Amino acid sequence: MSVVIIGAGLAGASVATELRERGDTRPITLIGAEPHLPYERPPLSKDLLLGKQDAEAKAFVHDDTWYSEHDVELLTDTTVHEVDLDAAEVVLPDGRRLAFDQLVLATGSSPRPLPMADDSGAPVAYLRTLDDAHALLAHLPERVAIIGGGWIGLEVAAAVQQAGGQAIVLVRDALPLQAVLGNDMAQVFADLHREHGVDLRTGVNVTSISSHGQGAVLTLDDKSQVEADLVLVGIGAEPNVDLARGAGLKVDDGVLVDAHLRTSDPRVFAIGDIANHDHPRLGRLRVEHWDTALQQGKYVARQLTGDDSPYERQPYFFTDQYDLGMEYVGRSKPDDQTVVTGDRAARTMRVLWVRDGTVVAGMHLNDWDATSPLKQAIGRRVDDVEWLDAD
Ligand code: NAP
Repeated sequence: MSVVIIGAGLAGASVATELRERGDTRPITLIGAEPHLPYERPPLSKDLLLGKQDAEAKAFVHDDTWYSEHDVELLTDTTVHEVDLDAAEVVLPDGRRLAFDQLVLATGSSPRPLPMADDSGAPVAYLRTLDDAHALLAHLPERVAIIGGGWIGLEVAAAVQQAGGQAIVLVRDALPLQAVLGNDMAQVFADLHREHGVDLRTGVNVTSISSHGQGAVLTLDDKSQVEADLVLVGIGAEPNVDLARGAGLKVDDGVLVDAHLRTSDPRVFAIGDIANHDHPRLGRLRVEHWDTALQQGKYVARQLTGDDSPYERQPYFFTDQYDLGMEYVGRSKPDDQTVVTGDRAARTMRVLWVRDGTVVAGMHLNDWDATSPLKQAIGRRVDDVEWLDAD
């Protein structure tokens, strides 16, 4: 019973790791398009950009000996050409065919391109890979115009400011992270960045970008202009679903998988960024975060070794920006009610998102005792959350 895993990021590597940790001895082939060993991405926009020692070494899931010692065939620098479901084979670029009994698709996502920037002739960067992070590092002490106020935009802005550069963050919404956190909590992040010297411009659209000397000039829809040494585009990611679509699997926003992360072909799982999951309690959702990659990878290994329970974990993510650490669990919508406790001025807070009296998500800022109480609050009536009364 051989397993082929396409995608050697954290999700794919977690399948292989967990299978071996469970004592499973079946042949495993792990195929990745990048030239590197499997690594996790959170350090790329945090510790690695901040120049922290060992950040890169710590990002790797295993050192290079682990794969051979655990009899996992790792093919790096290899972009799979095709998945042939009729033959149950994966076709490699050199025409070699790998047979599988079970296939795991963990192909991740790619940065959403901004043609206006790519065609401008100005220096433009994206941040997705280790190589991207290295390229960006060299520009941090400069003026960096960041398009997009999501996680990449804000984490890079923090790194630019901490490196002595100047970040100009251009956000089309009224606040950064507004769609994820709602107005109240998004304001906390806007204030944080302004206090650290970020030139945060909200409610603006970039209408043109041109090269100017060694740098760039961006024109905004309010007719103002921004000069920068580098343009960093952080406007979201798109799931890499071409292989799945080409194989005839059901694809919508991501690869459609059932509660057990199985695609429309029961021999094939899809995990991580590409998995549009039929969550037993939350309905259909696709989560582009580190923890989902890790946990869904482990989960598939459990499925393959006999555990048939559905995948029911709540989404989880975290960020570190300046001296602010945050963790978020659950899934809120912008119109959910928020209940906030703690010290807003000191940015030491717990937040619950509540829908029809039930807690659907929780977040803390710099309150590291809160992780487990927040997780336990999800799904409970807000009136029954004891620590809210105690506050
Ligand atoms: P993101 O978090 O989805 O944020 C993208 C932002 O760009 C959104 O605010 C979006 O606004 C905006 N946007 C979209 N199209 C735009 C356009 N044409 N012009 C201007 N703004 C535009 O994506 P990201 O920051 O690029 O990050 C990429 C991926 O990496 C995401 O999946 C993210 O979750 C992940 N990531 C996660 C972390 C973390 O968990 N700490 C850190 C780094 C990266 P709307 O909301 O209005 O569409």
